Amino acid sequence: MLHYIQANTNGRLQPADEPSVSPLNRGFLYGDAIYEVWRTHFGVIFTWEEHWARLARSADALYLKLPLIADQILHEIKRTVSAYRQHTKDEGELYIRLQVTRGNGAIGLDPELADRSDFVLLVQTCPRVPAEKLRDGFKLSLATQLRRNPIDALNPAWKTGNYLNNILCLREARARGADEVVILNQSGAVTEAAVSNIGFVRDGAIITPPLSAGILGGITRGILITDIAEAAGMPVREETVRALDFREMKECFLLSTTKDIGPVSAIDDARFEVGAHTATRRLKSAFADYARDYSASHPELRV
Ligand code: PLP
Repeated sequence: MLHYIQANTNGRLQPADEPSVSPLNRGFLYGDAIYEVWRTHFGVIFTWEEHWARLARSADALYLKLPLIADQILHEIKRTVSAYRQHTKDEGELYIRLQVTRGNGAIGLDPELADRSDFVLLVQTCPRVPAEKLRDGFKLSLATQLRRNPIDALNPAWKTGNYLNNILCLREARARGADEVVILNQSGAVTEAAVSNIGFVRDGAIITPPLSAGILGGITRGILITDIAEAAGMPVREETVRALDFREMKECFLLSTTKDIGPVSAIDDARFEVGAHTATRRLKSAFADYARDYSASHPELRV
């Protein structure tokens, strides 16, 4: 393990590289699990409520009862962060992952076999986007072998513990030397990247695929639409995007909790502008203002 990760398994604090859940855990056996990732900005858990609401929606979709209520999990996060800081003396920004599984039981798919849902919290230093990616942009490649799960199967809107489809798409793009992948849906429209939503800039407007394309409703994407775009003085439209449309797009960017807004320089042969003068950079700076205001107004979420 490269760096220390603090785990909290159903209230038990431990280093994350020590044994934790049972071999009969259904998250491990079947991906029968959901999760959320928060990060801190200025030492405050960012968009706590929005991520919690999405976790609750994912739990409902899987008929999975959450083991604790929001305040109890917040208390467990604070305990886990204290243990992490005590061990590492790291006072920097944090990555906080909450995994909830349907629990343990006899081997078999029937959810009735599960005893009770359980949780694992993981706290580590917040990964930084490498400076050269911020400067030069990420290189993306279209997945050609697999498509995004259709919304009437394992709906991409649910943040489940089952990422195999995205893992295989990412593997394909990485094998071609790309940093990240762009995944299409069954009708050939752009959905998202492996763990990020995607946006474009065309004629001064932000274009991002609609939820109906079959994507995770990212919290970063949501804030872009409700606040950041306006703060940067740009209209935003949710529109179907196809690979043929890439040549009309001037800029492209990724959206996720850990990257916030990350510039993209290419999707295969299609090139996009990156750099100090771009709309993407303006959006990134509007995002930083938003995060600063959020942190100042949520002292109760300081960890
Ligand atoms: N899309 C997928 C498939 C993801 O897994 C993630 C984050 O994990 C995102 C998009 C970005 O979502 P958020 O902005 O909430 O981090």
